[in-house]
Amino acid sequence: MTQEQKQIPLNAVCVYCGSSRPKNPAHSAAAKEFGLALAKDNISLVYGGARIGLMGLIADSVLGANGQVVGIIPEHLQKYEVGHTGVTKLHIVENMHVRKKMMFDMSDAFVVLPGGYGTLDEFFEVLTWRQLQMHDKPIILVDIDGYWAPMRTLLDHIVDKGFAQPDTRRLVSIVSKVEDIIPAIKAAPLPIYAPETKWM
Ligand code: AMP
Repeated sequence: MTQEQKQIPLNAVCVYCGSSRPKNPAHSAAAKEFGLALAKDNISLVYGGARIGLMGLIADSVLGANGQVVGIIPEHLQKYEVGHTGVTKLHIVENMHVRKKMMFDMSDAFVVLPGGYGTLDEFFEVLTWRQLQMHDKPIILVDIDGYWAPMRTLLDHIVDKGFAQPDTRRLVSIVSKVEDIIPAIKAAPLPIYAPETKWM
């Protein structure tokens, strides 16, 4: 372990991913494979509590392997996303803000699988909070079958045009295989980026 790395507790991982049914079988396979990996390593899944889309697939995979799943869903989404009734614990909360804060507080790291607008919102929230040194939990973007290639380009573009510092690229680790996720969490570098330099 280098000086930049530190041992983090790894009891619970928050997974952000799509609530839609994936078109690419590689995305479904990745969600299922990561669910099995979490259960095997006795790491709880913290997620948005839906039983549909990629979200439902990963929850079912963890549960099928006798793992622990904590879902957190706001009241008003129950009817659309349909809360997963089989999870270890389903928290039904007042609104999206409470949901996101609870998911953040309960997790030791964040893993971003393919997803849509909601996934992007969740990813950028934990990324910007890390940029502002409000937390130091690893963030892993999982680029299955090139899904996040435009995101890699966008992140580079933002730095290239001076709207983020080059060191901010270290705030997110990018992997393209499920088997690399947990090692990437354990190896995630501490950011050397100082938030005050953003505006200098
Ligand atoms: P999506 O990637 O759009 O399928 O959404 C994935 C998850 O993000 C779902 O559980 C959504 O409820 C949630 N979500 C959708 N929009 C937002 C938002 N604006 N802020 C936070 N979470 C959201």
